[in-house]
Amino acid sequence: MRDQLLGQAKRIVVKIGSSLIASRAEGLRPQHIERLADDIAILRTAGREILVVSSGAIISGIRKLELKEYPKSLPIKQAAAAVGQSRLMWAYEKAFERLNIHVAQILLTHQDLADRRRFLNARHTLAALIGFGIVPIINENDTVAVDEIRVGDNDTLASEVAHLADADLLVILSDVDGLYTEDPRKNPSATLIPLIAEITEDIERLAGVSSTFEGTGGMATKLRAAKKVGEYGIPTLVLNGERAGLLPTVLSGEPGGSLFLARERRLTSRKHWIAFTLRSRGQIHLDQGAVDALTKRGKSLLASGILQVTGSFEAGDPVSCLDTDGKEFSKGLVNVSSDLLGQMKGLKTTDIQAQFGHQEYEEVIHRDNLVIL
Ligand code: GLU
Repeated sequence: MRDQLLGQAKRIVVKIGSSLIASRAEGLRPQHIERLADDIAILRTAGREILVVSSGAIISGIRKLELKEYPKSLPIKQAAAAVGQSRLMWAYEKAFERLNIHVAQILLTHQDLADRRRFLNARHTLAALIGFGIVPIINENDTVAVDEIRVGDNDTLASEVAHLADADLLVILSDVDGLYTEDPRKNPSATLIPLIAEITEDIERLAGVSSTFEGTGGMATKLRAAKKVGEYGIPTLVLNGERAGLLPTVLSGEPGGSLFLARERRLTSRKHWIAFTLRSRGQIHLDQGAVDALTKRGKSLLASGILQVTGSFEAGDPVSCLDTDGKEFSKGLVNVSSDLLGQMKGLKTTDIQAQFGHQEYEEVIHRDNLVIL
């Protein structure tokens, strides 16, 4: 199963964490980037298409600006990212030039992904670059991204890129070997888990004990990334990126790392985008009848089953649907603003027409724009 999945994956997103290619003391370590480029070249020779998501801009900028410590202020962090990103790209250019491979820089923010047209446009650009045999090197556009438009960490960014690029596999390279049964620093008998069929709560608990590195994420963000792409049918391999040659050998069947399987019945790209890329602007609390209609009978959401509306949203915005325990169980694009919906809640369609006149849509959220999580 594992061998087959890894062996057959053609389009692969490889996420490279900061700690693999830079350190606070030395800044960027070009020889490490060269080593990773060598591994990627081997994969390309074997017919694989590789996209890289690389961190390291901020840490490299810190060094170049000779800052004494990791900046706390956003403008300084962003300045460091601007300085460091060009340095980072320069190192990738050099490393791949030795191997006669061209690279391209792509910087994304959450907004680029949350706007469907920009999302599709970025998808076409990636496809064109891959068509040219280029290795896209992708990072978050840290210089302009403030909290509301930040993806936040590069494990999450890599998962969004895997979806964007319709990849067959996401590989997260870091300074840990993968997911262990226990904390290997505390218990020498801890073993690496080679295959994880499903990310259960028990597995999530293990993530807490497996992280060792200084990047933004930890094993928890890697698991979240794996879960997210898994819903789109993409498996995730978490692998140690410090060992030269490990990546190509593991992809051709040698043991190493932890592979998280994906769901067999994957969401469509658009539904995955609604569920996992978009951020909810508000919450709609439903009664049990409406919950059942959505989850068991595949219906659209009508106003009659709505108990309460929170948050502030416009028609077309993404919102969460909550069950009677207040748990989010569904997400969708709403047809009515929060103000109007607050007045319509609980009413039958005929009453809505009588009170508010003709409505363009009968459904508050149409089934086609609704995802059960
Ligand atoms: N985008 C950040 C950088 O290049 C890193 C974010 C992360 O490590 O997750 O420095």
